[in-house]
Amino acid sequence: MYYVSKRLEISFAHRLSLDYESKCTRLHGHNAIVTVFCCAETLDRNGMVTDFTHVKEAVTSMLDHTDINDVVDFNPTAENLARWICDRVPNCYKVLFQESEGNVAAYVRDGFEDAAL
Ligand SMILES: [Zn+2]
Repeated sequence: MYYVSKRLEISFAHRLSLDYESKCTRLHGHNAIVTVFCCAETLDRNGMVTDFTHVKEAVTSMLDHTDINDVVDFNPTAENLARWICDRVPNCYKVLFQESEGNVAAYVRDGFEDAAL
């Protein structure tokens, strides 16, 4: 199995829908570090699992410098965004979504809990 990961930064605004009092329900911004993990049994005809540039483009083209509530139709928590990114990137099995220093959410596709990277 081949593994690659791509780390990138996105700037975005969002507000969360919560059933308790929180400052996070007000519009605010983050500079998030997103790490996307992909794997493949065989390489493509270019010798890659997936092109790092395509991974970055898939994430930044939709989320960077946006109000994420205008982009997605779900509550844009770090957990939900990690899942959404994983579903968009070909061969992706894991996403780490570091919303701020010390706050990281992870989504790992079923069956990939013990993946090498
Ligand atoms: Zn936030």
